[in-house]
Amino acid sequence: MYIGFDIGGTKTEIIVLDAHGEQHFKKRIPTEHDYQGFLNNIESLVLEAERSVGGACSVGIGLPGVLDPRTGLIKNANCTFLNGHQLKKDLDARLNRSVAIANDANCFALSEAVDGAAAGKSVVFGVILGTGCGGGLVVNQQVIGGLNANAGEWGHNPLPGFNSEIDGNPVQCFCGGKNCLEKFVSGTGFTRQYNQHSSAQLTGPEIFAKLESGDALAKQCYELFIDQLARALASLINSIDPDAIVVGGGLSNVSRIYDDVKQLIPNYTISDDVVINLYPAKYGDSSGIRGAAWLAR
Ligand SMILES: [Zn+2]
Repeated sequence: MYIGFDIGGTKTEIIVLDAHGEQHFKKRIPTEHDYQGFLNNIESLVLEAERSVGGACSVGIGLPGVLDPRTGLIKNANCTFLNGHQLKKDLDARLNRSVAIANDANCFALSEAVDGAAAGKSVVFGVILGTGCGGGLVVNQQVIGGLNANAGEWGHNPLPGFNSEIDGNPVQCFCGGKNCLEKFVSGTGFTRQYNQHSSAQLTGPEIFAKLESGDALAKQCYELFIDQLARALASLINSIDPDAIVVGGGLSNVSRIYDDVKQLIPNYTISDDVVINLYPAKYGDSSGIRGAAWLAR
């Protein structure tokens, strides 16, 4: 059986899947921010899960950061207590097995490629349109992390075709870049663009409710957002042309975006006759942890 962990800033979650993807155990605890305490918790959760399912399991961990392939150290994790630690080495020693570790967006893409919306597709790109704009690349059900563990970080490419007359004032990103995709096509990017024209500061669901009721500003912002997303996805298709693109995160639940964005993508791809397999995630918020379990398949 396969243990998967999802490590977040507030919660640490564990599940156990069997080879058919059925879930046999699940537990969620607050994330311990002391590194040694964190290792203790992982170890005791693994032991508890294995007692519960009655056998040894593989262990995969998805976290909001990456394992630097050159140094073995965790970097870029917003669970900052993990940064600079040999997490894999430490867990391998404690758990007496080889633990698999990957970025949570890569785990999302793996989950959807193994038995989710893109099951059966060879080259799958997972896109998470939530607080930020994450991404993960999976080929033949293997995560492609890349030489620098940068693969999938499309959210920090500049928005293609940025034009301040259309896209508004230039925006600085925390990563040091300017006009990064995630400042426009994430959930927060969408609300940011609406709220800069509105005196009321609305949430995403409130803006979509206005859109449904025919509000002109909501319509204008939504159409711009779809055009920006089309530009972003077209650059992805021009780069790797995946067999499927699977969308997760809060915006993936907005059913109209799929047909709307597919109509505009051909305006920005090299050929305007393109097949676009763009799907909502099958497992929603559970995809990340399921993909972590599948890391050790
Ligand atoms: Zn950035």
